[in-house]
Amino acid sequence: MLRHKVYSSFALKCPRCLKGSLFVNPSLLNLKTISDMPACCAKCEQDYEIEIGFYQGAAFISYTLSCLLMFGILGISLIVLRTVPKWVVGVAILAELFLMTYILRVSRAMWLNIVVHYDKEIAKGVREG
Ligand SMILES: [Zn+2]
Repeated sequence: MLRHKVYSSFALKCPRCLKGSLFVNPSLLNLKTISDMPACCAKCEQDYEIEIGFYQGAAFISYTLSCLLMFGILGISLIVLRTVPKWVVGVAILAELFLMTYILRVSRAMWLNIVVHYDKEIAKGVREG
């Protein structure tokens, strides 16, 4: 279901059980561990490393999200102000820098959500057990 995939992607939770964390360190400020993921879900044991180099494809999603954010801000400026002042470009760049780590993680979560699907029975077992 789409709502499970959206929740898993933006809350950075396991796509199969929606309970386990996708990343080792929940902090978005520690750049050394920003992309560190456990080998599998702590709750349902879903393998997070599907194959070697699996997350390389997430770069395409990351690039798309970054472009949507940048052009979204510039587009809103064009619609509302009928121009793009320099300060709006600065705001867009700051938004990119501020959300860079979150976009990286969301893109990995979205990429994993393409191949891993929510399992109601597993999620029920995790909740009870
Ligand atoms: Zn899980």
